Amino acid sequence: MMTKERRVWYDITIALVVTLSLVGIYRYITGINHDHNVVSSPVTEMRKTASVEQYGFSNEDYFFEESSIANNQFLGDILYNSGISYPLIAELEQKAKEVYDVRRIRVGKKYSIVREDSCGTAVALVYEPDPLSYVVYDFRDSVSVRNIEREYITCVETASGKLQTSLWDALVGQGYDFALVDLMEDALASSVSFYHAKKGDEFKLIYERKYIDERPISLGKLLGAYYKNARGEHYAIYFESDQYSGFFDQEARPSKKSFLLSPVKYSRISSPFSYSRFHPIKKRKIPHLGTDYAALHGTPIRTVADGVVISASYTKANGKFVKIKHDKTYQTQYLHMSRFAKGIVPGATVQRGETIGYVGSTGLATGPHVCFRFWKNGRQVNHLRENFPPADPMPELYLPSFYDKRNEIMNFLSHITIDEPRATAKSVSINQPNT
Ligand SMILES: [Zn+2]
Repeated sequence: MMTKERRVWYDITIALVVTLSLVGIYRYITGINHDHNVVSSPVTEMRKTASVEQYGFSNEDYFFEESSIANNQFLGDILYNSGISYPLIAELEQKAKEVYDVRRIRVGKKYSIVREDSCGTAVALVYEPDPLSYVVYDFRDSVSVRNIEREYITCVETASGKLQTSLWDALVGQGYDFALVDLMEDALASSVSFYHAKKGDEFKLIYERKYIDERPISLGKLLGAYYKNARGEHYAIYFESDQYSGFFDQEARPSKKSFLLSPVKYSRISSPFSYSRFHPIKKRKIPHLGTDYAALHGTPIRTVADGVVISASYTKANGKFVKIKHDKTYQTQYLHMSRFAKGIVPGATVQRGETIGYVGSTGLATGPHVCFRFWKNGRQVNHLRENFPPADPMPELYLPSFYDKRNEIMNFLSHITIDEPRATAKSVSINQPNT
C-alpha cells in the first residue's frame, strides 16, 4: 500500500506532468518550443517516486536478484532452485494460464527473484517480457499472478537532416534511432523511393517516443514527415479518425497508393529495366525486362501490392519464383528466391508489404538479388515509370478535421531547422494504465 504522504507526492507529480504537457502541447502547436526543461523536470520527479519501490516491492523490505532466461530454462526450474515447492509451482502454472502463461517465457528476457532476506526462499519472481510491462508471480500469502503495465511518458520529438552520404549516416551519425527510417519509408512509401536517396536530400520528422525514468524505451507513432529531393517536396501527415487512420499528403490523398516502389527494403538497384543489357552470364546483349535489387541472402521479399499468388515454383532460369496477380491490369514476379515464405502457394491471397519469400541466388544469378518483373496489361514494363492508381480518397466528412491536423503538423515541420543536431522534446503526455 502507498502511504498517504507518498500518494500526495505522486499526485503532485502527475499534476505537474499534465500541466507541463499542456504547456508543451501549446508550444508544440505554435512550434516555438526548444526548451529541454519541459521534459527533464517531470521525468526526474518520476524517478524519485519509482526508486522507493521496485515492481511494487519496497526496496527497504525486499532483495532482488536479477538475471535473464537461459537456453532451455523453464520457469519451474528457476522457482524450484529458489526454494519453491513443486505443489506451489504447479498451482502457479495453473493460475498463470489466464494471466501470463509460463510457456510464453523466452530466452534472453530479464527476470528478478524477490526475497525477504538475501539468502532466503523466493517470495516472488518478476518476469519482463518487454520494457513496457512486467509479470509478477507472487508466492506471498496465496499464489497469484499479475501482469502490470508500466507507467511511461510519451514525448513528441523531432529529427532532421541533410544527406551527405546515406540516410543511415544522416540519422545514426546524429544519434537518432535508425528505426525512424522504417517509419519514414512506411509513411512516404509511394512518393519517395529511398533507394534513390541522394546527397543534398533533406528530411524532417515529428514522432513519438516512450520513456520510463528518462530512458527512451521505444518509438511511438510518426506524426509527420517531410522529404525534399530532386523531384520536389513530399509530406506525410498522420491522421486518425473514428473510422480509419493512416498517412496522407497535404491534399488529403492517401500516402500509401496501392503499390510499393520496391520489393525489398534497404536494397539497391543492381541492374535497371532495359531493352538492351549485356547479360553477365549469357555474355550477350539481351533485354532485361525487370529491375534487379541486390540484397543480403535471406532478406525478406515483400509483395508490392495486394493480390493472389498465381505461381510459386522453380525453373532453371528463374530459380524459385513467385508470381502475383494484383488486378485485371497488373501482375508482378519475384525471381531467384532462396525459399518461399510460409503459406505462399498458388491461390493464397497476399497483402501489400507481406513477406512472400527470401532473397537468394537460385536459377541464373551471379549473386543474391531479386529480379522484379512487372506486367501491365500483359506487357512487361518498368514499374518505376508507372503512375499507380491511388488508394481510395478520404471521405469529405473527414476533410475539415484533417485540414486542422495538416495545418498544425505542417506549421510544426516548417519550424524545424535542418541543421538541428539532436532530437528535442516538444511535448509530454503521460500514460496511466489502470492497474
Ligand atoms: Zn533481373
